[in-house]
Amino acid sequence: MNFEKPILVLSACLDLQPVRYNGQLVKDEFVLKLRDFCQVITVCPEVSIGLGVPREKIIVYVEDGIYKVSQPATGRDLTNELNDFAEKFIENLKEVDGFLLKSKSPSCGVSNTLVYKDSQGLFFHSKGKGLFAMKVLKTFPLVPVEDEGRLKNPSIKDHFLTRLFSLAHWRVFSKQVNSIKDLYEFHRRYKYLLMVHSQQMLRKMGKLLANYSKEQDLQKIVNEYGEMFKLALCKKPTVGSHINVMMHIFGHFSDFINQSEKRHFLNVLQKLREGKIPITVPREILRSWAYRFDDKYVLSQVYLNPYPQELE
Ligand code: SF4
Repeated sequence: MNFEKPILVLSACLDLQPVRYNGQLVKDEFVLKLRDFCQVITVCPEVSIGLGVPREKIIVYVEDGIYKVSQPATGRDLTNELNDFAEKFIENLKEVDGFLLKSKSPSCGVSNTLVYKDSQGLFFHSKGKGLFAMKVLKTFPLVPVEDEGRLKNPSIKDHFLTRLFSLAHWRVFSKQVNSIKDLYEFHRRYKYLLMVHSQQMLRKMGKLLANYSKEQDLQKIVNEYGEMFKLALCKKPTVGSHINVMMHIFGHFSDFINQSEKRHFLNVLQKLREGKIPITVPREILRSWAYRFDDKYVLSQVYLNPYPQELE
């Protein structure tokens, strides 16, 4: 299966660049693997605003409800520099399918960044996000934004990768749509994937296509469909919705497999429900049945192959 290469913004320190405050390298095996499947744009907000390596630590603190950044050892307030850099960087990004940032960082952290009550970092306030990550999340609500720490959770990782590769597919596909038929074909291939994220959006998107008439501007429909597509994928699927969709797909094969195979599959779904195995296990079983019975419809469904299997 061919996948479009997503345009991924990556924290430079996750790209083995020696930009951390202490000059140490971060080696995350999964990120290094993912890099090979993406068009990577690296960024280090702290080095970009002129902080050297090594440098004194900076921290996030809240003052009157506003998140700020300071460097306690020098007493510098770096809030404006970091915010200005983030705005310019984002402005210059022409297209992007996702962000993978460094956890816990006062600039890049999407989770677990220590936030203080004071600019000296003496009094703990809460765990939150870095300043750069906050700007990214606010500007790109429909684009996946995660940090490498959160990706240790298999369901967050699956959701992130699914969105990343689906958005890349849409970015390339949406420029080549010549007729409503093309959109129908795209919609057909994403049926089960959309169903797992939001049945309501799946219906809405189907209606949008069904109501199209030749007098309408096709590009307008493409844009509308694209927004709905990205919005639908934002919603993290529940285990229950995965099981529901898998039972639908199972229905394609249930007349052809024996009782033991059926029992085994239902047991696997039960283990998924109990959180004992990841989604990739029953997906692999369905995939192998699709090959075995040469079910072209199921094989064409993105749900069974949402991203390169090397990343599972
Ligand atoms: S976390 Fe962000 S700001 Fe810190 S070193 Fe890495 S890329 Fe630079």
